[in-house]
Amino acid sequence: MTETADCVFCKIVAGEMTATTVSETERTLGFRDINPQAPTHVLIIPKTHYATAADTAAADNGLLDELVSEAHRIAEEDGVADAGYRLVLNTGTEAGQTVHHVHCHLIGGRPLSWPPG
Ligand code: 5GP
Repeated sequence: MTETADCVFCKIVAGEMTATTVSETERTLGFRDINPQAPTHVLIIPKTHYATAADTAAADNGLLDELVSEAHRIAEEDGVADAGYRLVLNTGTEAGQTVHHVHCHLIGGRPLSWPPG
């Protein structure tokens, strides 16, 4: 799928909006969440626009693997991997997805409760 004009994460990929980037590969970008919920809160996205994890899996299952691999690498870099961290892929409105460009939340650096709200 191509970039969508009104997608905030496509704008970050295109350099039209700033973000604190922590990782970049040929197909992925990692940047700090603008409203962090923990000391480490990074979003890892594909540079290509897919709305949801389900859409991504249907089109290119290996891309989700790359998001998760990058998340783990960043968790190690940020020093939160040993203590433990959470990866979240909110998928659809009822799950709390507000930005409709698939993204993997990496959240860590503090104890996290369960279940989520
Ligand atoms: P969702 O609720 O869709 O799973 O998560 C979207 C996330 O994107 C939220 O945690 C929100 O803070 C973050 N976000 C929304 N707009 C921007 C932005 O312009 N820049 C950055 N860095 N994060 C954003």
